[in-house]
This record gives sequence, C-alpha cells and structure tokens, in this order.
Amino acid sequence: RRLDSRSGLSAGLLGEIQTPVSTEPMDSVYETTGELGRGKFAVVKRCVEKATGKVFAAKFLRKRRRGRDCRADVIHEMAVLEVARNNARVVNLHAAYETDHDIVLVLEYAAGGEIFDHCASDELLPEAQITRLIRQMLEGVHYLHQSNLVHLDLKPQNILLTSLSPPGDIKIVDFGLARRLGAVGELREILGTPEYVAPEILNYEPITTATDLWSVGVIAYMLVTGESPFAGDDKQETYLNVSQVNVDYSRENFSRVSELAVDFIRKLLVKAPEDRPSAAECMSHPWLWQQPQICLTPDLVPTRTGRERSCGTKWTAPPEDPED
Ligand code: ADP
Ligand code: MG
Repeated sequence: RRLDSRSGLSAGLLGEIQTPVSTEPMDSVYETTGELGRGKFAVVKRCVEKATGKVFAAKFLRKRRRGRDCRADVIHEMAVLEVARNNARVVNLHAAYETDHDIVLVLEYAAGGEIFDHCASDELLPEAQITRLIRQMLEGVHYLHQSNLVHLDLKPQNILLTSLSPPGDIKIVDFGLARRLGAVGELREILGTPEYVAPEILNYEPITTATDLWSVGVIAYMLVTGESPFAGDDKQETYLNVSQVNVDYSRENFSRVSELAVDFIRKLLVKAPEDRPSAAECMSHPWLWQQPQICLTPDLVPTRTGRERSCGTKWTAPPEDPED
C-alpha cells in the first residue's frame, strides 16, 4: 500500500536525537502494568517509575518490520517529538530504552484516553468542549507546521486527553508517519488510514501542511456528529467518498451545534489543498470563539476546571463577533 522511496533520510526523515537511548534494563527503573493500545508495529504499555511513582506510557517499537531494519524510523519519531518538546499539545518524550527487538519510548502519560471515545459514543461532548479541544489541536498543528513538520496521521485515535471526565487537555501522539517538509521538495507517499486521509494522498499528489488540516476537519466532524464522514462499507467506497468529498451535512446530524460548526468543517473538507485554511487561519474562525466563552487569548480562557494553559502561541479572537 505504501509508495515510499526510503533512501536514507531523503524522504523527509529526521536523523538527529538528543535523548540518550539507554541499553540498561528498563525494568530496573520502571514497572510496566498494563496495555494502553497497540498498532501494527508498536505496543503501548502503562508503566510506573519506581523511584517516583510517576506514571508514563511506554511505546515499544519493533526495530525490524517485515524483515527490514527500521531503527531509522524510530529515531525519526523520537527526533520529531524532540522538535515539538516545548509545545504543550504534543506528548512529551521522557526517556528511551533499547532492547534486542525494540526501542522503547517512555512518554508522558495521557490518562484520558483517545478522543475517539468521544466520537463514537452515545454521549457526545458539549459544543463548548469540542471547540476548546479543536483550538488546542490547532495550536499543536500550527506549532508542527511552523517547525516544517506535517503529522500525516491525525485521527481520533492519535489525539489523547490528559484526563477523561471532565475532558482534560489534548496531547497529539504517534509521529510515526510525520515528515519534514521542504527538505526534498515534494512529498508523495501513500500513508495513513483511508477514512482520515485527504484526497491528495489517495491521488499521489504532493503532500503539504494542508493535508493535516483535512484531518482536523474529519475529527471536528466526528466530535460534532459521532460519525466518520467518509467511512464506507469497504475500502473502495471510502476511497470514493474521500475523492468525491461526499459529505453529509444534513441538518439532523448537526442539530446539537450552531451553524458555525458546519461552516468550519465545510472550509476544511475541500478537495483542493490550497483552498483549505491554514491552522492559524482556522484559529480565527468564529465557531471556535463563540459564546459562552469570551476569549481573547488562551491564557484567559475560562474553563470549568481552570486547567487550560497557554502553549506559547498568542491567538487573538476574530475581529467581528457574529453573536453580537
Ligand atoms: P501506533 O503507531 O501503533 O498507532 P500510537 O503512538 O498511536 O501507536 O499508540 C497506540 C495507542 O496507544 C494510542 O492510540 C493510544 O490509545 C495509546 N497511547 C499512545 N501513547 C499514549 C500515551 N502517551 N498515554 C496514554 N495512551 C497512549
Ligand atoms: Mg496511532
């Protein structure tokens, strides 16, 4: 499925890391307790640092995959996490270990699980919570894009929460498919999960930062409606739905939320990448700033828990307030 000229680092991979990769036995420092999730080549386990009692998430990444040495891919994933180290919306890398089979990334623990659980449940989040989470997601995405990185695998399974109820702050995880832009000009790769990937990926067209904004639109749609906008009965149908941008905006799906939600999503789910707003432009969409919250900067956002904090980017609310 994957067209990918992986010659060394030329496909936008980063090669330099600062975090030492320890070959000491990890279980002298951490006690692993249970599984948090798994993908094709990774298992994520909850672990406790024995000295401090602090909880972390240990992502065990296989070094060999399909008979190929993939150590460089793991180093790249670490390097991306290091680039985003100072951004509160991206999961923090605490330490790294290496065993015969795996490299283990010891990550900040996101105790609230995946926002997927808020997309596929009978109890969807209130609109004010959804817009708060989308603002946070855009802050993280904006930071990555400013750092010349694209995530390319943004989906509700890769956006975690620091706490479940009330929903905490978001943490973007899983930088396995992330790439650096610019280094080799255009990136053309088949990546990601069909349900969540942009039409340009299915069409082997150049990948840009706009590709991530499509995924933000898909996630927003799911948080609002509880449904995946392009999921078909099979892969074929899903591909067709994506490439034709076949989206159901019928009112019954959106009855819970304001008209502005539909406007926000419609602006992102457009076929031509160059016609999608950037993360910074999305940030000034009135949907994200509507009542009951009157906010000027994230520092001032009143939340029920008072836990929202700034991630270092100052955003100003859009000039006109359509609600007034
Ligand atoms: P993969 O590349 O296999 O998809 P991910 O990094 O997405 O690996 O991790 C898989 C799953 O493990 C996530 O979807 C999430 O449910 C869980 N997970 C990953 N990182 C953390 C973390 N820091 N805290 C809590 N759960 C996590
Ligand atoms: Mg994942």
